[in-house]
Amino acid sequence: MTDISADAQAPAAGTAGRNPAAPGGGRTVGSAVTPAVIARLARGVTADGSAGTAGTIAPLTGEKLAELPLSGPVDVERAFRQARAAQPAWAALPVRRRAAVLLRFHDLLLKRQDEVLDLIQAETGKARLHAFEEVMAVASAARHYGRKAASYLRDRHRGGAVPGLTSAVEARRPKGVVGQISPWNYPFELSVGDALPAFVAGNAVVNKPDTQTALTALWARELFVEAGLPAEIWQIVLGDGPVVGPEVVDRADYVAFTGSTRTGREVAQKAAARLVGASLELGGKNAMLVLADADLDRAAEGAVRACFSSAGQLCISIERLYVHRSVAEDFLARFAARTAALRLGGGLAYGADMGSLVSPRQLETVARHVEEAVGAGATVLAGGRARPDLGPLFYEPTILDGVTPGMAVCAEETFGPVVSIYRFDTDDEAVAAANATPYGLNSSVWTRDTRRGRAVAARLRTGTVNVNEAYAAAYGSVASPMGGMGESGLGRRHGSEGILRYTEAQTVAVQRILPIGPSMGLDDEAFARLFTTGLKAMKAFRLK
Ligand code: NAD
Repeated sequence: MTDISADAQAPAAGTAGRNPAAPGGGRTVGSAVTPAVIARLARGVTADGSAGTAGTIAPLTGEKLAELPLSGPVDVERAFRQARAAQPAWAALPVRRRAAVLLRFHDLLLKRQDEVLDLIQAETGKARLHAFEEVMAVASAARHYGRKAASYLRDRHRGGAVPGLTSAVEARRPKGVVGQISPWNYPFELSVGDALPAFVAGNAVVNKPDTQTALTALWARELFVEAGLPAEIWQIVLGDGPVVGPEVVDRADYVAFTGSTRTGREVAQKAAARLVGASLELGGKNAMLVLADADLDRAAEGAVRACFSSAGQLCISIERLYVHRSVAEDFLARFAARTAALRLGGGLAYGADMGSLVSPRQLETVARHVEEAVGAGATVLAGGRARPDLGPLFYEPTILDGVTPGMAVCAEETFGPVVSIYRFDTDDEAVAAANATPYGLNSSVWTRDTRRGRAVAARLRTGTVNVNEAYAAAYGSVASPMGGMGESGLGRRHGSEGILRYTEAQTVAVQRILPIGPSMGLDDEAFARLFTTGLKAMKAFRLK
């Protein structure tokens, strides 16, 4: 076991993932993701070759992983043209036919999950268990929308303007071509997971994943086409975010963006200028509250998942932990011990508790936040240093105490395996502190009294609240909306909101026998009197 304590037996530098005794086993990045597979997947990018290529690295080893073609403006234009040409025939299919494609995709995914687990690990460096979270999330969303789309999208009869004479139907029409921009941290879930409801609602999608994790999105597209999606309905373009991203936003009928709050603002402004809608799934500085009556073992075990899954590179992970003063020392002893015992590793197999960070930029931010806090007086309860002996981008899961408002780690999103501890005396104080952030994505409350947990949840200003779980309970409840309040975003994925965002509401009203206006010899005044009587009657008969 490679625990994070200083005397742990770690593999030599550069050999992480090759040591059969290391957590995660001995399979290497290269053995799972072959040049032939990469070349095949790369052909799925809409790119004519004139915009050049970009290289990606395997975070676990620092070695080169892939060289992928980039898309220029001409390619983005072609992607939209092809998507637009194919979309009407796709939208004309009965919903059930499109839903059947999602359900076939679900089955293929569960059967072939090892392929995508290898790709996710190779591209992100995360532990296999955390890569599997993406499979869980996507399979759940495919099942949900595969089974429920027909009901979400069906025509709904509404009360007409004049009972008996007007019949009104609310219909849902696809937006057309959705522009989807996704980050690197959950590359499978945040590309295909968010595209599923767009497809089943009858849209085409032009997706720009992060280049570093494009192979995962390309694999998802291949599998979807195998499940029956027409290939033109899902286009993938690649390139520098600030260059290719706006090209996508400029052509889309709707924008589904996931990424940082800073980029989200730019995307929102561009979409607003074109008067197209956008959903924005942005950053967070999520809080966990351990109330005085919490089961401390469960809370400590939950805190480990909450803070260190995917090495903290998870929008809904916890970076601020508030614990009731009366149980703080007991809780922290348990939490720090569990954290120190985590096995870091990088092989393409189950066994490691935490993997690597994805990029030197992430490592730099994490190290800077910790070093600055420690320099200003914070203390390290666990972790606190990089582990180049395990791989170039490993950083220990880290607990900081004594963090004060002037420190970057206190309020800024670290997006890494670092959590700060704060103590509180009353629930009111904890709620106020948790809410004292412009973000509002996720929170977690631990208590033996679930009624009390729900009451605290109602006062937290976040799009999801998990009681006695870190994040997976709310995120995995795919029939319910998930998204951010405040600077964590606009709009929601999952549930009815997650699919209806990809549709336009259209009311079709049919008038029979009499028009809504003076007729049959009534002059204007007589019509107004008659209609006034009608309006009174509609209220008296409790019409809605
Ligand atoms: P980012 O904003 O830098 O990039 C996200 C995507 O936007 C990438 O594909 C990037 O190439 C593209 N992009 C960059 N500049 C652009 C521009 N000017 N116009 C259009 N597209 C542009 O974010 P990141 O660092 O890749 O991802 C991490 C962030 O994402 C964190 O803040 C995290 O909290 C957030 N996130 C949020 C959710 C959620 O559901 N709320 C989920 C995952 C990640």
